[in-house]
Amino acid sequence: MTSPEHRPEMSDATQVLQRVFGYDSFRGGQQEIIEHVAAGGDALVLMPTGGGKSLCYQIPALVRDGVGVVVSPLIALMQDQVDALRALGVRAGFLNSTQDLEERRLVEAEFLAGELDLLYLAPERLRVESTLRLLDRGRISLFAIDEAHCVAQWGHDFRPDYLALSALHERWPTVPRIALTATATEATHTEITSRLGLQDARHFVASFDRPNIQYRIVPKDEPKRQLLALLRTEHPGDAGIVYCLSRSSVEKTAEFLVKNGIEALPYHAGLDARTRAENQARFLREDGVVVVATIAFGMGIDKPDVRFVAHLDLPKSVEGYYQETGRAGRDGLPSTAWLAYGLQDVVQQRRMIDTSEGDAAHRRRLADHLDAMLALCETVECRRIRLLDYFGEKSQACGNCDTCLTPPTTWDGTVPAQKLLSTVVRLDRERRGQKFGSGQIIDILLGKKTAKVIQHDHDSLKTFGIGADLGTAEWRAVVRQLLAQGLLTVEGEYNTLVLTEASAEVLGGRREVPMRRDPERAPRAAKSGTSSSRRAAPVDLPEEAVPVFELLRAWRAATAKEQGVPAYVIFHDATLREIATALPTTLAELGGISGVGDNKLAKYGQQVLDALAGDGGEAPVGAGPDPDTLPGAPDGTPGGEG
Ligand code: ADP
Ligand code: ZN
Repeated sequence: MTSPEHRPEMSDATQVLQRVFGYDSFRGGQQEIIEHVAAGGDALVLMPTGGGKSLCYQIPALVRDGVGVVVSPLIALMQDQVDALRALGVRAGFLNSTQDLEERRLVEAEFLAGELDLLYLAPERLRVESTLRLLDRGRISLFAIDEAHCVAQWGHDFRPDYLALSALHERWPTVPRIALTATATEATHTEITSRLGLQDARHFVASFDRPNIQYRIVPKDEPKRQLLALLRTEHPGDAGIVYCLSRSSVEKTAEFLVKNGIEALPYHAGLDARTRAENQARFLREDGVVVVATIAFGMGIDKPDVRFVAHLDLPKSVEGYYQETGRAGRDGLPSTAWLAYGLQDVVQQRRMIDTSEGDAAHRRRLADHLDAMLALCETVECRRIRLLDYFGEKSQACGNCDTCLTPPTTWDGTVPAQKLLSTVVRLDRERRGQKFGSGQIIDILLGKKTAKVIQHDHDSLKTFGIGADLGTAEWRAVVRQLLAQGLLTVEGEYNTLVLTEASAEVLGGRREVPMRRDPERAPRAAKSGTSSSRRAAPVDLPEEAVPVFELLRAWRAATAKEQGVPAYVIFHDATLREIATALPTTLAELGGISGVGDNKLAKYGQQVLDALAGDGGEAPVGAGPDPDTLPGAPDGTPGGEG
């Protein structure tokens, strides 16, 4: 890439950063990584979502001769990625299975003619000999392997096609390679290194902290209502993702939200490809859409203004959880990661592991993942300390998670644990082929003469009624924590509770069982949430800048619609916020704002200045936000159900 007025005192990389991307300075480790790769070195980059990985290969590709080849599994997002680059004036293209022959030919011709800076490829393309021959005939500046954790079987997104990527180095030994991922456990890191042959590469490991995300894990009670309360009080009109484990709960939850006036769309693998693509496109293109999805949704979604990620079911691993919650707040503004978790989650997941296909080692691995996730849920420590510790990083109490904001208390659960475990023992002895889950055991402890208790003569058990000092919810919390601590487990299709080896230590009085006391109500964020009819979060924007920000958003929505691209491809919220506060009056002033590069200044600069000049503080009639994207529920509307 050549720039007309080369400023020799600045490195090429810095010039590209400022002129093309419109940013003042590099973040974190970007500069070091970029200089290393631009000089021809191999790199493995571990950086959290939102850390700024894309620039780490985009800038070296622009600085070096030839085309940067980017391998990415995110076929559905390639068009948007390429559009976003083209909006910056970068010559980008992609090759994947969604294109017809003619479109592919066109991109291939551009590649061969040296008319591309970046070429995005789906990994399966590289299994095709004709693609390899095509690459042979062009000039490649670097290979970027995005979402590199897909090569690791230990992780949660394994893609067999990624295994073939080790061949890149054999075929093009002098072309530098940069592999990038936002997954950073020791095990995944090691696996990526060996499978991609990156032993001699430089490894750049950034901090994985995401300080703007507030982590909260609450006891699950009525999950849909808890979710609705969260959205209404803290995130009205905000874009967000809600994760559920099953397709049917995705459907039900989306319906429930829609009924309650929230613009929610379902997304799961059972929907046809077109509906999925449409729902994803609306989420990306419109403001304030909520997607309710299975984990099939979200990898590589680079929408910067996702304000919350909510989990209605327990994720299967801390890695997956961190990856999913990391989709919130890429723009660095305050965001929420919220998880509702209960006894049924533990029972269900233990069962799923028991019945899963695969060998004992595989099941062991799943169980280890689950145990780490449960430990995170039950901790009385700062959530962030736990999370970062999982990725091998030491940190301090964060002040921005539920346990920091509302410290939970612990209590000595040894005696209740003994009561419960001995009930399990007695039931096991008398079971005579009968199977009982946690419900029956709790009824026995509480001394409830239910039909089922009487039928099986359980009111004659020695432990009948000895747990009346606790309530049902508390007993459920006891069972949940015993399961989480491995002092109890479930078996068979009726989820029968059975002892583990460690149970004997508790029964024999050789082990204490500290427990977390569930808070009465879900803790609230420290920030005020008074007006629930507040429109989507211009977080921390000065009052007087709000109308200007809304005006700019309306202009952006109209422009994005006209050009058929997501709004953030035009300008990010963060850029609009800065414009609304700085109120530039000249193109030069506007060009100084972060996120306004040369190309966007030339293309949109005058329009923005005109919009600002014509603004009397109120949005002109007809230029307001798209009515389709306004938050649906008027203030105080009661729920549509119940
Ligand atoms: P990742 O791929 O690591 O999740 P991205 O590359 O999408 O992160 O970057 C996250 C956000 O940060 C994007 O909105 C990007 O434009 C912005 N960004 C990246 N680097 C910088 C920088 N040096 N200065 C300002 N913003 C940046
Ligand atoms: Zn904390």
